[in-house]
Amino acid sequence: MDNQLLVSLTEKHGSPLYVYDAEKISSQYNRIITAFSAVKNLKLNYAVKANSNISILKLFKKLNSGIDTVSIQELQLGLEAGFSPEDIIFTPNGVSLQEIEQAAKLGVQINIDNISILEQFGSLYPTTPVCVRINPHIMAGGNRKISVGHIDSKFGISVHQVPHIKRVVENTGMLINGIHMHTGSDILDIDVFLAATEILFNTANEFENLDFIDFGSGFKVPYKEGDISTNIEELGEKLTKRFNLFCKEYGKELTLMFEPGKFLVSEAGKFLAHVNVVKQTTSTVFASIDSGFNHLGRPMMYDSYHHIQNISNPNGRERYYSVVGYICETDTFGSNRRISEIKEGDVLSFNNAGAYCFSMASNYNSRYRPAEVLIYNGKDYLIRKQEIFDDLLKNQVLIDLD
Ligand SMILES: *Cc1c(COP(=O)(O)O)cnc(C)c1O
Repeated sequence: MDNQLLVSLTEKHGSPLYVYDAEKISSQYNRIITAFSAVKNLKLNYAVKANSNISILKLFKKLNSGIDTVSIQELQLGLEAGFSPEDIIFTPNGVSLQEIEQAAKLGVQINIDNISILEQFGSLYPTTPVCVRINPHIMAGGNRKISVGHIDSKFGISVHQVPHIKRVVENTGMLINGIHMHTGSDILDIDVFLAATEILFNTANEFENLDFIDFGSGFKVPYKEGDISTNIEELGEKLTKRFNLFCKEYGKELTLMFEPGKFLVSEAGKFLAHVNVVKQTTSTVFASIDSGFNHLGRPMMYDSYHHIQNISNPNGRERYYSVVGYICETDTFGSNRRISEIKEGDVLSFNNAGAYCFSMASNYNSRYRPAEVLIYNGKDYLIRKQEIFDDLLKNQVLIDLD
């Protein structure tokens, strides 16, 4: 997506704006498919929460992907996008039994992550096959907020509780057809990930009727120059060998599943915003944009790095800037960044804006959430309109205070 095109899209669709490149999404998807091509039954389920725009979901449908959903609403969006229930896995955490029942009635694969619900669900619906989410207690990388496999994590059923799972299965007569783990985001070390898969293979051997093993995700993408990303090709080579061997021992060709979010969509997205004000203080030059953490929350929530470029003046002299938002709270997108000289009115482009960006946007400060555009086969498609004033009022109930 070249700079001129991006600038022209803000003229056409307004600012700030999210723009996604379908080609990049496809190529990331195909990288995993290629890396695991020696696995007979491979299934990728795109993690909807990364970016739940229905056109993005449709793109994944076209790629032959399934989807991973964490709420009944994501599941319904998936059905709306045309996925059949067999291509949907429901992997919530800490939701009510009622929500899981609702998902089961829609015919999707249920994944349960605690023994209390497992017992209740198994007693009520012993014939509905269920996958269990195991916590292998391995830290595969990432910061504490996004690591979900460690010992104190709220996610999954501890691998030490497998005997308890088996007792529940025996008592209820329920069927366990899958084993799952998701060790959290930002896997740096493939060997640590492989160590976690060993724990999962051991667990899988405890269950006789499996159809699949789901290794979750957390694949890392680069944010800045020199960043390492998960070496999918190496992982593919090593895990394929191990998985195929396991299937032989197990006596059945199981399906190998992953559920990547960030890896598939992060780099495909750009966030574009205009500079409202350039303000020189005693120590810093601030560039204030027409957006804030209401639209792009990751830097403020996770200290995550998004590379920022001035696409209106890409070849100017570089200077140091702090790029900040217009929210009435400190909302810094990047401090002390070397950016090509900024004038008021210039368009800044933020990288890695495809995952966990729009899907976390809010109306804080009563701002509209931005529009989204998908570039597909060389054409730009508006896939979400910018909100309008009526959207802010839509669900408010006006009462008479006289
Ligand atoms: C969020 C989530 C994912 C996706 O994680 P990424 O780091 O975006 O790849 C996969 N599985 C489950 C259960 C999740 O909650």
